[in-house]
Amino acid sequence: MAILALHGGAGGDGPWRGMTALDPQRLACMERILADLGPRLESGELDALEAVTLAVEAMEDEPLYNAGRGSVLAEDQRIYMDASIMRSSDQAAGSVVNIEATRHPIRAANLLLKDGWPVMMNAGAADAYAKKHGLEQTTQPWLKTDLRLAQWKKWSDLNSRPGATDEDDGAVLDHDLSGEEREGMGTVGAVALDINGQLAAATSTGGMTGKPVGRIGDTPIIGAGTWCDPTVAVSCTGVGEAFIRSCAAHEVAVQLRPEGVSLGDACAHVLAMVEPLGGRGGIIAVSQSGEVALPFQTMLMYRGLWRCGSITTGIGDEVYSSEKDD
Ligand code: ASP
Repeated sequence: MAILALHGGAGGDGPWRGMTALDPQRLACMERILADLGPRLESGELDALEAVTLAVEAMEDEPLYNAGRGSVLAEDQRIYMDASIMRSSDQAAGSVVNIEATRHPIRAANLLLKDGWPVMMNAGAADAYAKKHGLEQTTQPWLKTDLRLAQWKKWSDLNSRPGATDEDDGAVLDHDLSGEEREGMGTVGAVALDINGQLAAATSTGGMTGKPVGRIGDTPIIGAGTWCDPTVAVSCTGVGEAFIRSCAAHEVAVQLRPEGVSLGDACAHVLAMVEPLGGRGGIIAVSQSGEVALPFQTMLMYRGLWRCGSITTGIGDEVYSSEKDD
């Protein structure tokens, strides 16, 4: 049995208001990835680690997701990207923080995982490491999209408004910008189980619109935004600070330890732990026994699943199915 699950970020308050004009493109991207990688995972051509890496790379290339090209802008109007990856067999992990030039941050994290030392690299040194290993380097203008510039402008206008509250001043998840700006979307992640019973998890992001320069969210923190051990692979999305303070991704594995606990219950418990810390978001997880959970406590979480030749995707409450038997 092979399983591949994806997320494209969580956010927003209140009931889901239906698809925006840009949502079909986001779902089509996930469907393409699942239709391509699912059968290759099932046939054994790909292991879990390579499947999650390829899936996240493809989402980093989709400008409507907040990772790679199309990442959100920090307070100084630059893009700083975070990514991490982990596999079950030996709990090897790799992570890059605040990189500015590498086209596929998750591939840089994958290289670190395979090198084995160090686990994490930061900023310019991490870009230099990626470049040295042959990874494509790009420019800030290429990474920035008009949508993200418009979101940054909206954040900046709110921020400078006389009488702005503390809440207004904070960095925001891109989904939380109202109206058409909701057409921004989030962080991306993937979890997989391969036919040899191995698991892997990967997460990549531009972070939060207007984040302070130097901020590090949960996405590159092993145990917070990403976790994988022999029992479960987990990728999180949401307000990163709360996911860091609760070691959310690792906590899913902790909650699973007692006999008889379902993956769904473990993830729900973790989201309930994150919430009082000011964190809203979602989790995707797959267990070694083939359980899958994709819960979120926000208005929406872009998500997709490939299992046994069938593909399902969802944004809000609705779930869409398509059979792919190739
Ligand atoms: N967790 C990410 C961060 O805090 C944001 C997101 O998931 O949308 O950087």
